[in-house]
Amino acid sequence: MIWGVLLFKKLLIANRGEIALRIIRACKELGIKTVAVYSEADKDSLHARFADESICIGPNSPSESYLDVARIIAAVEITGAEAIHPGYGFLAENADFSEICERSKIVFIGPNADQIEAMGDKATARETMQQIGVPTVPGSDGLVADLKDAKSIASEIGYPVMIKASAGGGGKGMRVVQNEEELSKSFDTTQAEAKSTFGNSDVYIEKYISEIRHVEIQIFGDSHGKVLHLGERDCSTQRRHQKLIEESPAPGMTSEMRRQMGETAIMAGQGIDYVGAGTVEFLVDPEGNYYFIEMNTRIQVEHPVTEVVTGLDLVKEQIRVAFGEALSFPSGEPSIQGHAIEFRINAEDPAQNFMPSPGCVETFQPPGGPGIRLDTHLYTGYQVPPYYDSLLAKLIVSGSNREEAIVRGRHALDSFVIEGVKTSIPFLSDITRDDDFMTGGVDTGFVEKFMQRWVKR
Ligand code: ADP
Repeated sequence: MIWGVLLFKKLLIANRGEIALRIIRACKELGIKTVAVYSEADKDSLHARFADESICIGPNSPSESYLDVARIIAAVEITGAEAIHPGYGFLAENADFSEICERSKIVFIGPNADQIEAMGDKATARETMQQIGVPTVPGSDGLVADLKDAKSIASEIGYPVMIKASAGGGGKGMRVVQNEEELSKSFDTTQAEAKSTFGNSDVYIEKYISEIRHVEIQIFGDSHGKVLHLGERDCSTQRRHQKLIEESPAPGMTSEMRRQMGETAIMAGQGIDYVGAGTVEFLVDPEGNYYFIEMNTRIQVEHPVTEVVTGLDLVKEQIRVAFGEALSFPSGEPSIQGHAIEFRINAEDPAQNFMPSPGCVETFQPPGGPGIRLDTHLYTGYQVPPYYDSLLAKLIVSGSNREEAIVRGRHALDSFVIEGVKTSIPFLSDITRDDDFMTGGVDTGFVEKFMQRWVKR
């Protein structure tokens, strides 16, 4: 169905928090009316207030609200929305949901069910990538059925290895094992955990590579057969495989590496006729060898760093592409200006092992000034509900180079006041003062090492 974005009037946002506000902003600029859906816990949220219309779709629990397909489709019918933007998380990578939208003649702002399926299951994605010649981390060919199988693969590729849930995501469903004894102890548990968390017990095995960087390439495909890339983001500053800080360009990235990784990511997108915004994630070793780990078929939390260094609006681009328009930016190497860093500010207490900290935001005083962007749904008096993701705000800072961006980030974090709930702000600020971080010597093991020398405050 190709309507053209200008003919289209109303879009429903099947999400909450900062990303729902981000999508509302893009729609306002495109002249599209918005419908917010919200749970009872979110009745006083900004996304419900700032959308043109809003509908309560159920109680606090995500399964009875933001994940309930029938209620969301009913909200579309009641309001006459023509499209759904799923944001990230919730239904964003649910192939059935994309298909239901297509069958109901609702434009899903994202790829079709086949494209989501090709990448949603990580073991299948690995196989698909291997078939089209994209390098993957050494590991099992497809799924690992039982412990015997796991032992034979692990001894072939060598320990340590990682057991990964094929349906896993958000840094969950992964376990590192150092030897055969640990593998024997962990294999069944990882399968059982995968079943209970993701509803699917399938696992596969990869070699565990330490001292590695997480570098991902933003790609975009349109329905005219074009797939382009918009450079990379380094997301190596992680705790428990969850991203805390992301930046673009990646420290140490050369234009030759960007060209090569960009071409590989485009090849991955073309291999599945990809349409929409997607992220091809790689692990990069100190020698510059890179290996595919997974592809996310949606807008990422960290998309603003790419927006800042390319000057593009990725959410508007997603909407245009979903309505059949051609990509608005030119082919060839993307033009990257300056440096951008995103800090994820979560409602959790770093001094108490990052314990979640829901509650009332008694004071909210955001930072400002040149090179500061803040994507957040907070306000003074906002109640942080305990039912959802702990992300409160994304502080995105930019500068003409990495050093300037770090200094801006540090001062912005230090002048950012959130009282009433504990946040990761002091921890992030301390990271910006760390020598290894400042020199760009960060790999996926950095946060763990940093925490050993970190003085809690
Ligand atoms: P998720 O979908 O849960 O985000 P990913 O497969 O993207 O999972 O991996 C998340 C993080 O886990 C990576 O950024 C990296 O730090 C770590 N990781 C994943 N696979 C490996 C591996 N084979 N070796 C070392 N670290 C890995």
